[in-house]
Amino acid sequence: MHSLFISDLHLCTNSPHTTRLFHHFIRHSAPHAEALYILGDLFEYWAGDDDLASPFHIEITAALHALAGHGTRIYIMHGNRDLLMGKALAGACNAILLADPTLLDLYGTPTLLSHGDALCTDDTAYQDFRLQVRNATWQQQFLSLPLAQRKAQIEKLREQSKTEKGQKAMSIMDVNLQAVHQLLHAHNYPRIIHGHTHRPAHHLHRLDGHTCDRWVLGDWDKHANALRCDASGVSWETIPIGI
Ligand code: MN
Repeated sequence: MHSLFISDLHLCTNSPHTTRLFHHFIRHSAPHAEALYILGDLFEYWAGDDDLASPFHIEITAALHALAGHGTRIYIMHGNRDLLMGKALAGACNAILLADPTLLDLYGTPTLLSHGDALCTDDTAYQDFRLQVRNATWQQQFLSLPLAQRKAQIEKLREQSKTEKGQKAMSIMDVNLQAVHQLLHAHNYPRIIHGHTHRPAHHLHRLDGHTCDRWVLGDWDKHANALRCDASGVSWETIPIGI
């Protein structure tokens, strides 16, 4: 019995290699797990659930739906890029949407799941933007725009953020240690699993007499990346090569 954790696939029609990795993983690795947790940024962007009918989105949701039919429970958390994923998307994948953060008992170990962008508090401009787009009224207004207009706005934002990223110091885009400590303290020192920073690693945090593991998932640009968790602990999942 084990669970798998993935994030930051950034699936889109422009990255067929990553899409192939995704299908391979869903067919060959994920069916062995009792649960698959997708911790945000499954999609490069999500303009709204009325975009479910695009052939690419049908392909992805059908693959996840088939996996769920096979018996693997699927949990999806919002990332910063696909925070507009709604109930219809979850239904199409036969998945359960998870709040960020979610604390659960994972084979006896309290484990906190998060996308990870909330921890990057040094990037104050991003945190302001995050607050704005997570606002229910803002989301309602945005979703009331025609789909094509939403997509155009998102494209513009992506271009902007690409330029900005090039100008920001690398350290600003990583998690803030103080924010990690606050999260650990607030949730009684759990193990943390998150993504977002694209810096796969295993960190140990010693805080208030506790030693806490923090596992950071990697992105899927060139290679698949998944974490495996069972009663004996956490390890990187070996992904069978075959594509
Ligand atoms: Mn992200």
